[in-house]
Amino acid sequence: MKPISLKEVIDFAWEYSDFYREFWGRRNFIPERDFRVDDDLKKIPILTKEDLLSVSTKKRSITRSKDHYYFAALSSGTVKDPLVCLQPRFAMPSYYRFVKDLVQVSDSSVLVLRPGTHAMALIAGALPEEYFLPGSIIALGDMDDLTFSAHLAQEIEMNWLVAKPSDAIRFAPILQQQGYPLSHIKFLHITGEPLTAATISLIKSLYPDACTVYIYAMTEVPAAMGLKSSLCADLDAVGSNAYHLNTEDFIFEVVDGLSVITALHEIPTPLIRYSTGDRILIKEKFQCSCGFNQDAVVIVGPRAGETSYKIGGFIFQVDAIKKVLQKLPEFVVGDFQLHIEQIAKDGRLSNLLRLVVKPVGSPTPFLTSTIREILERELYVTRYRLLKWAIQQGLIDPLLISYDTDLKGSSIIPPLEIIKPFHNLKKK
Ligand SMILES: [Zn+2]
Repeated sequence: MKPISLKEVIDFAWEYSDFYREFWGRRNFIPERDFRVDDDLKKIPILTKEDLLSVSTKKRSITRSKDHYYFAALSSGTVKDPLVCLQPRFAMPSYYRFVKDLVQVSDSSVLVLRPGTHAMALIAGALPEEYFLPGSIIALGDMDDLTFSAHLAQEIEMNWLVAKPSDAIRFAPILQQQGYPLSHIKFLHITGEPLTAATISLIKSLYPDACTVYIYAMTEVPAAMGLKSSLCADLDAVGSNAYHLNTEDFIFEVVDGLSVITALHEIPTPLIRYSTGDRILIKEKFQCSCGFNQDAVVIVGPRAGETSYKIGGFIFQVDAIKKVLQKLPEFVVGDFQLHIEQIAKDGRLSNLLRLVVKPVGSPTPFLTSTIREILERELYVTRYRLLKWAIQQGLIDPLLISYDTDLKGSSIIPPLEIIKPFHNLKKK
């Protein structure tokens, strides 16, 4: 059942939101005149992240005391333009209910291993929806101190873990070192990063007794847009980022290959024809091995026009790499391609980076080692950590460098398995 109708969402925005009145007004869309039937959705101007960022969070948010409280959810993308959205709750999609009923974890002891801003919005938004049953214990781990987090897990006898896929994988050996049996973990709530076959298989082998729910969501939305579980072998076969589509809380459209969503909820910043920027493919008829009886599924690809990419616990940014390469003008042109792949190796996740650069003269082994050295020393791959640190920790493999004299422009290329379903489409 849909939470509210499309018309109700539009009326809500038009009545209460100065932001929407102005945004639609400037584009000559007047709901009373232009929206009569659901098919008129197509007439509504498309909203982008830039439109949301053009005003402050407070200015574009409808806040009402009947929602009780709002929690600021922060997009952890680039530092330049973090998008803040207020959410009163995080609606539980029907797929989540379906999996929870199968697992029936009572007496939950939940460890949330997410950054503070995310964790607060997630926990507070989940409470009114009873993601965790009353009587549950909820603890917030410290992502920069996994040993401490493992101690906390042990004390509360954690059986439910909320984490990014790469963090769940990094956390497993530390829990084991601490003497905490991974078989105690019955439920994994995995979100925040694109998945690869390597991450999915590692999570499965490290947490053999856990039912895992993988969530596709973003800061702006009041519920997960796509979900799958460790029971969805059929979906995994379609693609590592294939999910059951949440058609209950959202209306999805595909416009120029990108997802445009309408959230059927009265949220502080209503989302009506919001272009998420995500490349998606929707398959209408799909029977999944998990037994869920709604048949629309979605394959999620990389975001269009993004100049950064987050995966494996790291963020790779075009500008940052360019800046380092520009320090070697006598050797290389600033253009580059950074190819990222993930593989599972000895129970660990390896992030493989291959950098293709355009040499000024003929490349030499000296040039290769110079480029490698300066990138390791100067390129940040998290907010505070350098590439060198990640390599020393064994989280990123030593950088591979190759040359291409025809290279034009700079880009980050996500793992092939993530972009492959979209290859044919691009050629059209
Ligand atoms: Zn499934």
